[in-house]
Amino acid sequence: MFGHRRNRIRHAQRVTLFLAVVPILISSSPVFTPEPSPVLRDAQLNQQPVINEKAARQLIIPQVLPDSQVDLVIEDICAHIGLTCNFDVFPARVPNAMAYMIDGKRVVMYNPEFIEKVQHGKGQPSWETLSVLVHEIGHHLLGHMFVNDGNFPARELEADKFSGFLLYRMGATLKEAQANIRTMAQEKETSSHPGRSRRLVAVEQGWKAARTVALEETDLSAKRAVH
Ligand SMILES: [Zn+2]
Repeated sequence: MFGHRRNRIRHAQRVTLFLAVVPILISSSPVFTPEPSPVLRDAQLNQQPVINEKAARQLIIPQVLPDSQVDLVIEDICAHIGLTCNFDVFPARVPNAMAYMIDGKRVVMYNPEFIEKVQHGKGQPSWETLSVLVHEIGHHLLGHMFVNDGNFPARELEADKFSGFLLYRMGATLKEAQANIRTMAQEKETSSHPGRSRRLVAVEQGWKAARTVALEETDLSAKRAVH
């Protein structure tokens, strides 16, 4: 989406590999399918949030090269968590972005047009872009793929809180951390998603929790410096 050419060869290879591997994975999917069936997690998706793995795989658009900038953003997010980045990231026919497990691997799918829209044409990742992708990674880290308790709004608020926390760590103001939800989320609650107000509160809770931790770290650092 941003015209970056870096890693194009790597991506082309990855797409080729993906296309080559898919038939094998499909044939072996019963072996690798997690139990219970993974639960699809998304950002601001207002439709039934549970689909099967085969349907999720079919959302991926193999003809579209993965956006190298999105990959770099994901890697940057992982760096701020201290996490080995083991997410497979694909352009997909999804409303905005989704987290899912495919063949036992963590997958983040994104709609290229949606990401381009929230990116606002900036060279650097916008806070909205970061918010969307951190939210999806939050679903993975919180183990939501394997929580099928039907309480989807609660899981969304947990991912939103995580996004607020990590966006603080990445340098966002509260307003920046909330920008995507303020713009994209609807106020009306659905069976899968809380309304905008509750989501903004969740982001704020995470952001303030991170600020508290940061202040404690600064204090501890100062005490260490004295000794
Ligand atoms: Zn979500």
